[in-house]
Amino acid sequence: MRPAAFPPREARLAALTGGVFDVAIIGGGITGAAAARDAAARGLAVALLEREDWASGTSWRSSKLIHGGLRYLAHGHFHLVFESLAERARLERLAPHLVEPVDFVFPLHRGHGVSGLQLEAGLTLYDLLSLGRAPHRHRRLSRDQLLRRERLLESPDLLAGALYSDARTDDARLTLENVLDAVSLGAVAVTRIEVEGLSKDAAGRVSGVLARDRESGRALALTARAVINATGPWSDQTRRFDEKDAPPQLRLSKGAHLTVAAARLPVSHPVASSLPEGRLLFAIPYGPVTLVGTTDSDYVGPLDDVSADRADVGELLAAANRVFPSASLSGGDIVATFASLRPLLAESGKSVQDTSREEALTVSPSGLLTVTGGKLTTHRRMGQKVIDRAAAILRGSGRDVNASPTGDRPFPGAPDSPWDVFLARLEREVQDAGLDPAVAAHLARRYGKRAKGVLALAVAERGLRERLDPGLPELSAEIVFAAREEDARSVTDALTRRTHLFWQAPGQGEGAAERVAHLLARELSWNPARSRESLQDFEREVSRARRALG
Ligand code: FAD
Repeated sequence: MRPAAFPPREARLAALTGGVFDVAIIGGGITGAAAARDAAARGLAVALLEREDWASGTSWRSSKLIHGGLRYLAHGHFHLVFESLAERARLERLAPHLVEPVDFVFPLHRGHGVSGLQLEAGLTLYDLLSLGRAPHRHRRLSRDQLLRRERLLESPDLLAGALYSDARTDDARLTLENVLDAVSLGAVAVTRIEVEGLSKDAAGRVSGVLARDRESGRALALTARAVINATGPWSDQTRRFDEKDAPPQLRLSKGAHLTVAAARLPVSHPVASSLPEGRLLFAIPYGPVTLVGTTDSDYVGPLDDVSADRADVGELLAAANRVFPSASLSGGDIVATFASLRPLLAESGKSVQDTSREEALTVSPSGLLTVTGGKLTTHRRMGQKVIDRAAAILRGSGRDVNASPTGDRPFPGAPDSPWDVFLARLEREVQDAGLDPAVAAHLARRYGKRAKGVLALAVAERGLRERLDPGLPELSAEIVFAAREEDARSVTDALTRRTHLFWQAPGQGEGAAERVAHLLARELSWNPARSRESLQDFEREVSRARRALG
């Protein structure tokens, strides 16, 4: 039998303390995962430590777009847009199952602050900066043409609009595939490891990490030539392990999203619409739901308990109802909410909306590398840049470092054949297995060529063909696959980030939670108390997501 993607957790824990790593990375969001992948692909010895689950911080709570960022043009951040568009094209090629080009519509409204001329200029620049790598150039749409595509945009203020190309992704799985690739290249990657301090050598240089295994409570210490702080919104906190009184670098902005059943906001394209107050509203069709986001407001509060509040929900519903008046959305339509923090670099005198989304890389006097800001879209480049900086530290200690090969390295699930050929083949296999052919498209998007592993489980055990929710294509086999192949260690991991029931299913997956706990208990040898605890943690997550809904 082929060995599982992740070695057993105990073996990984032993490997953490068994030798000297070239690079230890703190934080398993997209930034840490990309840095781990880049370093491992250069042949470095890598440890990646995450205190919760892969992507459990900001990285699963994004707008799930791989985009140039049309809005950033208005703020003059041309370099970020250029780099993002180049990365978008690259990811469409290297991770076609996870990064799907889609046509967006941008409606123009009277009084919403963007004129036809500005939109035309912006989209022309967007096309130019993409260097012809988008599937097509933007097109202007008359009011009638726009309404033929999106009837729901009908409103007295609607003037005209445009169609342009960008991409949609699965943020949690993009992060996971970075980790999977890093692990396949030899990285030691472990979740539920909380870093609590740094060790330093006699010269005061950072030489390792002091951490605690949150599952056993055991303390552990590992040695590394370079240490990278990729803890996103927590990075100021992590910097203080190095310099006790380090002044804050970050300005945190909260971004909230909500989902409603697709039937209540049936858009067939992602819609990006400017609002009179200068923000953009996204309404993105995503399977059984439409994702609506996002707010952008200064946040001061606990970092570990961020949720959409009543004001966020009110703001999003009001904005959606302004753009789609006939939808008349209300709180009762909401399936789920989620919120996260943008770790922006504080820039004095600027509003939160004007603050740059570019990443920043700093090195402390003792050698701690901190990487913050940036976007999901540019994660590969960020990973490369941070390892380039780490390489300078490593070369200082006599370690040779290769150039990054990630620019041309396919992701683990990337099919070996063109998408249509791959999908047709998977459809046949799904049918041969006696499953609903619609499951093929779902498995293809979610797992790419790794879908075969899920299918094999469903073929081997009839019970694993059961759907987790009658309205969604997710199979019970995916939970077993998540535990065996994808490092899922809780009901929340399985229902929120390995599958999407938490934000796509009516009831947020509560109806499937018992079955999921049962399957995980079987795979991970849980006792009844552990199953109960995991179910209770999941219920707490659901309550947090509903906090603002009364
Ligand atoms: P995180 O994902 O937060 O990861 C940091 C990790 O560090 C966490 O998992 C945390 O648990 C861990 N950690 C913290 N402290 C410790 C410790 N002591 N020990 C161990 N681990 C620790 N970008 C796009 O390209 N497209 C979008 O559509 C998009 N939409 C967005 C919408 C919103 C509302 C927000 C907030 C951001 C959006 N972004 C988007 C930006 C993108 O999501 C973020 O830049 C990215 O997810 C940040 O990833 P990260 O790894 O730096 O941080």
